[in-house]
Formats: sequence, structure tokens, C-alpha cells
Amino acid sequence: MPQPSIVILTGAGLSAESGLATFRDKGGIWSKYDYRDVATPQGFAKNPKLVHEFYNMRRRDHAAVKPNAAHLALARLEREHAGNVVIVTQNIDALHEAAGSKNLIHMHGELLKALCQHCGSTHAWTEDLSLFTQCPRCGSDGGMRPDVVWFGERPYHMGEIGKALSACDLFVSIGTSGHVYPAAGFVAEASAYGAHTVELNLEPSEGASYFAECIHGPATEVVPSFVERLLGGT
Ligand code: NAD
Repeated sequence: MPQPSIVILTGAGLSAESGLATFRDKGGIWSKYDYRDVATPQGFAKNPKLVHEFYNMRRRDHAAVKPNAAHLALARLEREHAGNVVIVTQNIDALHEAAGSKNLIHMHGELLKALCQHCGSTHAWTEDLSLFTQCPRCGSDGGMRPDVVWFGERPYHMGEIGKALSACDLFVSIGTSGHVYPAAGFVAEASAYGAHTVELNLEPSEGASYFAECIHGPATEVVPSFVERLLGGT
């Protein structure tokens, strides 16, 4: 009997209890910054210094955070479940990999990577970026940017994600408000292919009614107990 194939979509709520701010919650990142200024190609063209400062701050904050019980439970699920488990994350932090997850797709890019707009190369990056940062490959300056997907840009790995959604038996969405497409549409896609769909979130998300099952509570509580249930523990 083949083991169920699982796709897990994660969002900012998963990392909230590690100390990283979410976007749309009260006090979240978009209550302090206008996303058009710091998370669009137009914002970067208009004021690259501000955009670099925004991501430099987030990169520095990231150095102090650790994966929480929910990240660890998902890594355990991948290790112990006999079928395929893939995590598709909207998060640009590196907490899934720090927890030990391997089969991971960063659809919105990665905070700890830089992209050269001149030659297209990407580089592991933990330092600040500025207008004067030189590309380690082509040597030009003025073109380095965080390797993150901004509003108006196409998310990464959409072909691979589409294949995983069409083949999954279970789709689980964790800590995401369901506002940002295409990720917000994955539940309908997985459901149309016959998957069981589950939302794990602090509160009902924008798309809660699309899920067959919803469990609400903090990720560090609901995710470990859901993983325990899947692995047959309780
Ligand atoms: P969000 O802030 O919109 O939603 C977070 C969700 O997590 C909320 O529904 C909230 O109720 C829930 N939550 C909060 N604390 C929780 C906890 N402890 N446990 C469980 N759930 C909790 O974040 P999102 O849905 O991830 O936003 C979608 C994406 O928009 C982001 O991941 C981000 O990638 C993205 N975006 C960001 C940029 C950028 O900054 N460059 C650019 C484009 C898109």
C-alpha cells in the first residue's frame, strides 16, 4: 500500500514564535513599512538604499533566531514518514533547513542569498548589502539585491510546485494568511486533484473555507500534535 504523499505550505506564522515578525498581523512588518517601498522592483529602483537597509536589518535579526518546535516537528515528519513529504515555504528565513528539512522549496527566495542583476548569479550571503557591493562572479557593483521574490515578480519553482500539488494526497497549510497568490490558490489546486486539505493557523485565514479540516492555535502546539497524529502516535 503506497504511503500518502504530503505537501506542506508554510508562511510567516510558522516562524512567529521564533521571534520573526509576520506581515499582516497587528504590529507586523507591513504596519511599519509600505510594501511598495521595500518589496517591489519599482521600490528598489526608486530607493535602493532603503531596500538594502530593510533587508540588512532582517538579515541581522535572522542571525539571532532559532527554529521552533513546529519547524522541528516538520523535519521529523520528513524523516519518519514513509511517503514523500515536500515543504513549499513562502518564508525567506532559513529556519526549515536549520531544523533539518531537506525536501524544501523556497518559492519567495531566500534572505541569506544575494542575486546579481547584471549576470544573474546567486550567492550565499550573510553580510549587509549596499549599492557598492561587488558581485563575486562578474565584479560589477550597483546590481546586487536580496534573492527574494518581490510583489509583481514570478515566484520560483512554480513548475515543480504544480507537479507536487497534482500528486499529493494531503495538503497542509501552516501559518499563512491566504492573501498572497499564487500560494493562496494551492489549496484549491490540491483539492481539485483529490487531496485532503488541512489548515493549521492561529486563527481562520482568508481561505479557511477552502479547507476540509481546520485546526487553530499557535504553531508550536498544533504542528507537533498534528505530526504526531500523522505518524500514528495518537
Ligand atoms: P502573513 O503575515 O500574511 O500571515 C501570517 C499568518 O500566520 C496569519 O494568518 C496569522 O494569523 C498566522 N500566525 C501568526 N502567528 C502564528 C502562530 N504563532 N502560529 C500559527 N499561525 C500564526 O504572512 P504570510 O501568509 O506568510 O504572507 C504571505 C507572504 O507574503 C509572505 O510569506 C511573504 O513571503 C510574502 N511576501 C513578502 C515579501 C517581502 O517581504 N519581500 C514580498 C512578497 C511577498
